[in-house]
Amino acid sequence: MTNDRPVRVRFAPSPTGMLHIGGARTALFNWAFARSNGGKFILRIEDTDTERNSDESLQSILESMKWLGLDWDEGPQAEGDFGPYHQSQRVDMYQAAIDKGMAEGWLYRCFATSDELESQREEARSNKVNWQHDARWRGLSADESQTKADAGDSFVIRFRVPAGECVVVQDHIRGEVKFASDEVEDWVAVRSNGMPTYNFVCAIDDAAMQISHVIRGEEHLVNTPKQVMLCQALGMPVPDFAHVPLILGADGKKLSKRTGDTALGDYIKSGHPDDALFNFLCLLGFAIDDKTTVFSRDELLQNFALKKISKGGALFDTDKLNWICGEYIRNTSVSDLCAAVEPFMVEAGYSLAPELLAKLVTALQPRANLYSHFAEQAAGLVSEVTYDEKAKKELSKEGVLQYLELVAAQLQDGEWPPADFFSLVKQIASDNEVGIGKIMKPLRCALTGALGGPELADVLNILGREQSLSRLAKAGQLV
Ligand code: GLU
Repeated sequence: MTNDRPVRVRFAPSPTGMLHIGGARTALFNWAFARSNGGKFILRIEDTDTERNSDESLQSILESMKWLGLDWDEGPQAEGDFGPYHQSQRVDMYQAAIDKGMAEGWLYRCFATSDELESQREEARSNKVNWQHDARWRGLSADESQTKADAGDSFVIRFRVPAGECVVVQDHIRGEVKFASDEVEDWVAVRSNGMPTYNFVCAIDDAAMQISHVIRGEEHLVNTPKQVMLCQALGMPVPDFAHVPLILGADGKKLSKRTGDTALGDYIKSGHPDDALFNFLCLLGFAIDDKTTVFSRDELLQNFALKKISKGGALFDTDKLNWICGEYIRNTSVSDLCAAVEPFMVEAGYSLAPELLAKLVTALQPRANLYSHFAEQAAGLVSEVTYDEKAKKELSKEGVLQYLELVAAQLQDGEWPPADFFSLVKQIASDNEVGIGKIMKPLRCALTGALGGPELADVLNILGREQSLSRLAKAGQLV
């Protein structure tokens, strides 16, 4: 059912806030579809809502897309043959379509006031019937309509939905979706302030920009028959559609602030690796197969197909996200990790020599999921040690002082860092006829101030001989 036009898809955000997780996932699917089909990915800015738009939002959307590696072929900063790419700069084109619709009669002025409409809705509610916009103004002659408009009566312009038709939408994810035109009200195409609405400009731009496939969130499925009817009225080609499933939070409801961060920027700030988040976003409704969770961009592009996107809601599973992030961190080279982690270190107030940063990163890499974890866990390793309650308790146990002194004695001289620290401690344990844990635990507390943390051999390496010995001595005084 795919049309045979060159693949041109678009992501069409409204710059009224930060890029949402759902928007990022939609952008990603569009990008993947374009890149895997040799097509073009267009970024169109839907900025007709002048009151809610802001340049700050636009910049943050562009930054977020760049961060995810979703490069666009046409759009802001990449002018192409189908611009301008900001809807606010395309009003002449919309006006031409309005004029045509008014002249041909598929658009008409509706003079109902909002109070009238509200009381009709109220009446429908009390009669327990579905509210259908009353089409009183449909029958007004063009001349009468013009006279009222000239007299200064306020109006909106509605689309005259044909009666008794069936609009069939070909959806690559949902299959054939049918809408009875009788269920679609005469929708508002132009507001009373003269601004055309989203449904109107979106369909016009999709046609003008020769969009072959409209890939967008499921919440827009209700808009699709309206947009298709408009294309038909204007004699414009109708694109193919693919409505991607909603993203659900842990509570099974549409992802919202309540169940987690929804802005991509929050995930960037909290130190999620870009490739990991990209990978995770792909999995929100898409799977390469039933076993592959971690995959590269190339693997995605080799395997991407709209029909592999599910119809059902996609669960935003934070544990899975953290796991994937950890996998990426483990597969990143130390030098790349150092570069990624450095800004988080600086933000936390650490300025480490490259060599020390590399040691720290190597030590923490097996256990970190986020770049920010390196900075969080650096405390106690590259700054003054403080002992938490559990550590203090451990250090107060019987025999501890003696063990710490025995370890310290072994670390005074010889190679640094010790080649086989574990065997060294094991030897002390067996000489004293105690389990190795009896020494390892207080040792860890003495060196790091806490019970958990990286391998002790790595800790010694980060601290250096002098600092390690001084911590053993300091902890010994706590005992
Ligand atoms: N500006 C619309 C939105 O952000 C675009 C919807 C569409 O892709 O048609 O939801």
